[in-house]
Amino acid sequence: MDLVFHAARAVTPDGERSCSVGVSDGRVAAVDDYGALSGDRVVELREDEVLLPGLVDTHVHVNDPGRSDWEGFDTATRAAAAGGVTTIVDMPLNCLPPTVDVASLDVKRRAAEGRIAVDVGFWGGAVPGNRGELRPLHDAGVFGFKCFLLHSGVDEFAPLDETGLEEAMRELAEFDGLLIVHAEDADTIEGAPAAHGRAYTDFLGSRPSAAENTAIARVLDLARRTGARVHILHLAAGDAVPLVAQARADGVRVTAETCPHYLSFVAEEIRDGATEFKCCPPIREAGNREELWRALGDGVIDCVVTDHSPCTPELKRFDTGDFGDAWGGIAGLQVGLPAVWTGARSRGFTLDDVVRWMAQRPAEQVGLASKGRIAVGCDADFAVFAPDEAFVVDRTRLRHRNPVSAYHERALAGVVRASWLRGREINLEHGAEPFGEFLSREESAAPVRSGQH
Ligand SMILES: [Zn+2]
Repeated sequence: MDLVFHAARAVTPDGERSCSVGVSDGRVAAVDDYGALSGDRVVELREDEVLLPGLVDTHVHVNDPGRSDWEGFDTATRAAAAGGVTTIVDMPLNCLPPTVDVASLDVKRRAAEGRIAVDVGFWGGAVPGNRGELRPLHDAGVFGFKCFLLHSGVDEFAPLDETGLEEAMRELAEFDGLLIVHAEDADTIEGAPAAHGRAYTDFLGSRPSAAENTAIARVLDLARRTGARVHILHLAAGDAVPLVAQARADGVRVTAETCPHYLSFVAEEIRDGATEFKCCPPIREAGNREELWRALGDGVIDCVVTDHSPCTPELKRFDTGDFGDAWGGIAGLQVGLPAVWTGARSRGFTLDDVVRWMAQRPAEQVGLASKGRIAVGCDADFAVFAPDEAFVVDRTRLRHRNPVSAYHERALAGVVRASWLRGREINLEHGAEPFGEFLSREESAAPVRSGQH
């Protein structure tokens, strides 16, 4: 073995156990009893540390190229590594050009080249008029296609109407592509009072859960009729959970995610003018948050990914605190793991659960067979995690580009002490050469449902 970890606690697909993990050529070559393996280099985890698989975050907006003053590949991937995330999949919008054809995917890969500290894959976009680009993008290695059903927040990435949505699904069903949907209904939001002013309750009222329910019902209905695979992004409305559960029971091929901020914060505690908490769909009430946790426990929601969507402080309009004008997005890449772990353990969940939601299931959902697990043959991606160490988030010390964070001054449990990528420790010191690689959809790896290893 090139490298061996001795871990009194490690989270494997068979549950938490005491073991040694052997690494050869950047891959896990053996998992054996504690102390049973030896190698050229030995890493002995400390008593308070747990070896986790590197997390897989399939919902990250890097915004680069084009809006690299908001975020960039260098800063986003370092924030990821600092948070125990060793694989990200970048969203097709907020960057310029948006990733809606192969030429724009090439532009993005060139922008990222040599600057990524973790492994990076890409989503494509399904927008009006690009149906003919979907197959070429799929063949070029994107993991699937994102669409909106209402204004996306940026004019260059337009939403699909009902016909466009159905056409996209029929096209994707031809080659078993995956459609990932921002599911909020435009008409429902149009009919609600407009977002304006400093009161969080007014903002919440402008994006009711009915908008999510209506959009999700439409997506599920079309998936049922077309046979397309669909994924519900950032599910934030607890009352939409039964729709997803029923569709899945009926055989619709649907997965769903939620985000650390919906599991951490509640509307009742968001101060007026605190636009760092603005995101879409919005953070809802305390009872809703518990419904999301239950849906994770029941397995109806598959994954927790961050929807890391940073911007500059100016765009958050801290000068006026107006929720109507502020950019909607929360930067959570670096603190997602401790945020979810803090909430999970207080509700009786274990690290096994957190790893399933944040590593194994996201990897399965995009068909990355070699990520998200500590198992023989998988990439030697790890996070060394101290679950009982407490800390307070300081937005100025986070590694994403701008010091804006909804988690600022929040006390969390769980510190990431080190991250490893394909058998090498990620060095976050200034000037260290990053060695992340691009990932493409794996042709052979069919997506699998949870519980299968
Ligand atoms: Zn997003």
